[in-house]
Amino acid sequence: MSRAAVIGAGTMGNGIAHVFAQHGWEVALIDTAPAALETAVATIRTNLDRQVKKGTLAPEAPAEVLARITPATGLDSAAGAALVVEAASENPAVKFSVFEELDRVCAPDAILATNTSSISITEIAARTRRPGQVIGMHFMNPVPVMQLVEVIRGYATTDATTRSVMQTAAALGKTPVEVNDYPGFVANRVLMPMINEAIFCVMEGVAAPEAIDTVMKLGMAHPMGPLALADFIGLDVCLAILEVLQTGLGDDKYRPCPLLRKMVAAGYLGRKSGRGFYQYQS
Ligand code: NAD
Repeated sequence: MSRAAVIGAGTMGNGIAHVFAQHGWEVALIDTAPAALETAVATIRTNLDRQVKKGTLAPEAPAEVLARITPATGLDSAAGAALVVEAASENPAVKFSVFEELDRVCAPDAILATNTSSISITEIAARTRRPGQVIGMHFMNPVPVMQLVEVIRGYATTDATTRSVMQTAAALGKTPVEVNDYPGFVANRVLMPMINEAIFCVMEGVAAPEAIDTVMKLGMAHPMGPLALADFIGLDVCLAILEVLQTGLGDDKYRPCPLLRKMVAAGYLGRKSGRGFYQYQS
């Protein structure tokens, strides 16, 4: 039987635990906040029930999947895992301390993966004594639905680690794509400049948000317009990733749009605050 540990039980962590457990893995789901663990288990239950209603999961499966997930508050519960996926808050200090601790408690042959959107895999790996076994495993939100896993090789990541994680992602029913560790990897390096440009269009009065999103949906066959997508991701998250791109690549073509900075300063963060380029009912 395969054992995994997922660190962080927020938006991404609950989805990652869901997918591993659905594919037969025993999962330790670890978060420092007990309330986050309770919410995560309730969310996983709701999402599994939805899969049963849609006919994509057997009626007895939710109980079996939930029984494979063990919530815990301490990182020592990751000790038996062959693969750890860290999905804690996007803060370098948090990631560095989590990886230092995981390196101490996990078996020497365990692989330590991170779901970070923008922090250097190479820097995280350098905090451990096993940089060859540290890798990015970048799932997309919502994890049970989205097909892609960006598998990101740090500077020292070995071929064996990469192969193992690519195989695991495929066994989870996902499509893994191998990329190298540069700021923003591929997904955010390509996506964020498009979102930023859409925000410049709003700022310069080129068109209204609805018009910009309609152009991209109907003209480019995007399922969601860039501004609706920015609201979904969180405008604060978009700003932070653009800053990583600008600093990490040293190129002002990634300069965050001043309107984005102003909206974040005003607390217009998108869906999570009820208002961004659009308004949302809570
Ligand atoms: P979130 O804020 O919803 O959840 C983070 C969780 O981590 C919280 O429950 C928090 O209590 C927990 N946490 C904080 N410090 C911890 C520690 N030391 N040990 C254990 N748990 C700790 O965040 P999220 O949106 O799920 O993002 C998690 C990671 O996934 C980030 O690195 C983010 O960049 C990445 N990511 C997010 C998305 C997205 O759309 N939300 C998409 C791809 C990748």
